[in-house]
Amino acid sequence: MVGREFFVSDNVAVCLELIDDGEGIAQATEILRAGGTVALPSETVYGLGADATNASAVSKIFTAKNRPASHPLIIHIENIESARSFSNDFNVVAETLGSSFWPGPLTLLVKRSSKVIDEITGGRETVALRVPAHETFQKVLHAFSQVGSGAIAAPSANKYGSVSPTTAQHVLSDMGNHIDAVLDGGNCVVGIESTIVDCTVNPPAILRQGAITLELVNSALRHTGAVATEEFTGESRAPGMKLSHYAPLASVKLFENKVALSSYEEHCALNKISFVTILGSEDREIYARELYSMLRDADASQPTEILVLLPEPSDIGVAIRDRLFKAAAPR
Ligand code: AMP
Ligand code: MG
Repeated sequence: MVGREFFVSDNVAVCLELIDDGEGIAQATEILRAGGTVALPSETVYGLGADATNASAVSKIFTAKNRPASHPLIIHIENIESARSFSNDFNVVAETLGSSFWPGPLTLLVKRSSKVIDEITGGRETVALRVPAHETFQKVLHAFSQVGSGAIAAPSANKYGSVSPTTAQHVLSDMGNHIDAVLDGGNCVVGIESTIVDCTVNPPAILRQGAITLELVNSALRHTGAVATEEFTGESRAPGMKLSHYAPLASVKLFENKVALSSYEEHCALNKISFVTILGSEDREIYARELYSMLRDADASQPTEILVLLPEPSDIGVAIRDRLFKAAAPR
C-alpha cells in the first residue's frame, strides 16, 4: 500500500515537493494510482487531488481538509468524452457548456452515472464535473487515464473554510503535514474557484460565480433556447457553500469606494486598531488572480482588521465580490 505511510522519515510524514517536469508528473500520477493525495495546480486554485473512484483515497481528502463528508467533491477529467461517462444524462445544456468552455474554469452539475461513488457526492444523485485547463493538471489527467481511472477529485487544497491556495507555498504552509505531495505549477492565473452551473434544472442555474459569467454562459446557450439564472440557494442546492468561507484570521471589512475606506482608516488610526488595506488592481482579472495572496499576506502581519476596496460588480468582479462577502461574513 502506498500513501502517507511511504513518505515517512524518522516518523515524520514528509510532503514531497514535485516540480513541473516529466518526473514530477510521473510521481504525482503514481501517488494517485496508489491511492494517495497530491495537490495539483489548476487555473483556478490549487486542488487537493485523489483518485475519484477510490473510496479510501477520497476519504483522505476529507480528513486532510477537515471537511464534512456531506460536502460533495468536483471530479476532474481529461475531456468531455470522459465527462459523459460519469453522467447518465449529459444533456444538451451540459454538452453546449462543456464544448464551449472546456478545458476551463467551469464546473457542470449533471445526473451521475453508476461509475460515481457515494463518497464523492455525499449520496446525491448529481455529480460535479470539470475539465481543467492548466497544462500540468492536463498532463497528470492524461497520464492517470493510462494507468488508472483518469478521474481526480480535487477540492481546494486548504483547510476547510479558510483562504484557497494559489501557489504551491500556500499549500505547503496549510497542508504540508497532511498530504503526500504537492506538484508546483506556478501561480494560478484565474485565482478564484470555478463557476458552477446546475444543468439538471430548468432553467439551468449558476450556483457559484467564477470567471465564466452569467452573460458568457447565456451567450453560449443561445441556440439551445435555455436561459440560465443566478441562483443563490446556499446550503441545500450546493452544500459546502456556507456563508462564511474563504476567511482569513483577521476580521474583514468591505468598502464600495475610497472615500468610505479612508474615513474608516482614520477611525482605526484614532482608536489604535491595527489594520491592513487591500485595494486590489483596477484590472479585475488581476484583482482575482491576486485576491487570495493579498488576503494571506494581509493576515501574516496579524492585524485586527483587513479593509478591502470592492471591485465593480461586472465580469469577474461579481465573483470577487461573492468571495469577499463570504470572507467578511460572521463566523
Ligand atoms: P470546491 O470545494 O471548490 O471543490 O467546490 C465544491 C462545491 O461544488 C461544493 O461545495 C458544492 O457546492 C458543489 N458541488 C459539488 N458536487 C455537488 C453535487 N453533487 N451536488 C451539489 N453541489 C455540488
Ligand atoms: Mg474550497
